[in-house]
Amino acid sequence: MLINGERTAAIDGRTFAVMDPATGETIASLSLGGIEDARTAVDAAEAAQPDWGKVSPRDRAHVLATAARLVRERVTALARELTREQGKPLREATDEIRGTANVLEYYAGLGSTFRDEFHRLGPDLDAQVLRQPIGVCAAVIPWNMPALLFAWKAGPALLCGNALVVKPASTAPLTPLALAGIFHEAGLPGGVLNVVTGPGEVVGEALVTEPRVRKVSFTGSTATGKRVMALAAADVKRVTLELGGSDPMIVCEDADLAAAVAGAIAGRYYNSGQVCTAVKRLYVHEAVADEFTRRLTAAVGQLPLGSGLAPETRMGPLNSAAGRDRIRGLVDETREGETGTIVIGGGEPEGAGHFYEPTVITDVAEDSRLLREEVFGPILPLVRVRDLDEAIVRANRSPYGLGASIWTRNPAYKREAASRVEAGIVWVNLHLKVPPEVPFGGTKQSGLGRENGIQALDAWSEEKTVLFRS
Ligand code: NAD
Repeated sequence: MLINGERTAAIDGRTFAVMDPATGETIASLSLGGIEDARTAVDAAEAAQPDWGKVSPRDRAHVLATAARLVRERVTALARELTREQGKPLREATDEIRGTANVLEYYAGLGSTFRDEFHRLGPDLDAQVLRQPIGVCAAVIPWNMPALLFAWKAGPALLCGNALVVKPASTAPLTPLALAGIFHEAGLPGGVLNVVTGPGEVVGEALVTEPRVRKVSFTGSTATGKRVMALAAADVKRVTLELGGSDPMIVCEDADLAAAVAGAIAGRYYNSGQVCTAVKRLYVHEAVADEFTRRLTAAVGQLPLGSGLAPETRMGPLNSAAGRDRIRGLVDETREGETGTIVIGGGEPEGAGHFYEPTVITDVAEDSRLLREEVFGPILPLVRVRDLDEAIVRANRSPYGLGASIWTRNPAYKREAASRVEAGIVWVNLHLKVPPEVPFGGTKQSGLGRENGIQALDAWSEEKTVLFRS
């Protein structure tokens, strides 16, 4: 844990092990925080926030810029640590750490745009809209992108003058702890940014139910997000929820198939399919479905599975045994129920580690769980469609609405998909990419509110209106 700028043990001295998912070896032992530890972190944040809130936006931005520079200088070491705890190939971990620095630099740059609004409403009536910190806030993050999501929350939260308590996931807490340490090296006062490790149901809930915490930014599964929202309602806390997704990818008859196959491969097998906006359902026009499947299967056959630290690895293990078991269960169910045809993959290598082969399943039954639920692993279900209308109708038949992509050269198709697909982000001829400048979030059960982009400043500020009669 990191409280008040210091690495601290849990009050009751308990610890837990962090494992390398490629080998099953223990790589670290961390403090197992509890309710009292969460409270101590909130005490520290509460004490530190008023002074931090008074620091000028320019000076707060300077801390972010310095942290970004330190992250960039340490890309290699941070990426290695991320791969060891999370499993992703080193090249993806390196991308994520660079992306983390980019996000912090972006918010540092916004420091100079910070200003209150002024309105002259009449000859004797003026208004100011002040952008003030919310106060003590909590950030709960998952294990799949632990560095980037830490930056998505800490960057704008701290720029806006809040103090933050972060609860990382227990299977990827090392990189968030390292990043919090970097913030302190960059000059952040102790207590402004704290990290409490420990079980979500204990530490996470202690933060969500703590009356002094005024906002919760949660990224994780839809099931946990619903619980967080219900608990936060007791104090009418502000909540931002970034939840699960089941992104459709629509491939039209005129698509550049080579680009679409490359997009599906990166979109589904990046981070072993453990990305909220991964391509989770493929809807392919029947005129090109056979050719697309042939090319996709050939490309999937070229994805060497192995430890993320090995240079030749294109896909690492899943982050946990439980995640791998869920993927195995879904494939077994498909095989036994004959609700799809497994054209490649569908097995797991011998030996240690939570590995599962990259898998493609065609002819998927409409009521299969592969299409109805969020599948957080390397299975790609493919459905043939007659036309774009059918693709959009079927794409929208999901409780989720995070991202979606359409692959076509036709401007009318692009417009049609962009306006009708129910999603927070629609990509045209690409998938997955989210630069720091754009707002990000889901519709339907994929979430509430937006992070990233300049919009995040609104989500991390309290706007106060002041009216003046002269
Ligand atoms: P999860 O919901 O199990 O856990 C997320 C975090 O919440 C962890 O830190 C966990 O310890 C904590 N937590 C668990 N129970 C809690 C509780 N009762 N109260 C408070 N906190 C609690 O999710 P996960 O398995 O770690 O992450 C995968 C999920 O995250 C997927 O559904 C994925 O789509 C989603 N995700 C969404 C986005 C997005 O931006 N929309 C980004 C990444 C991941």
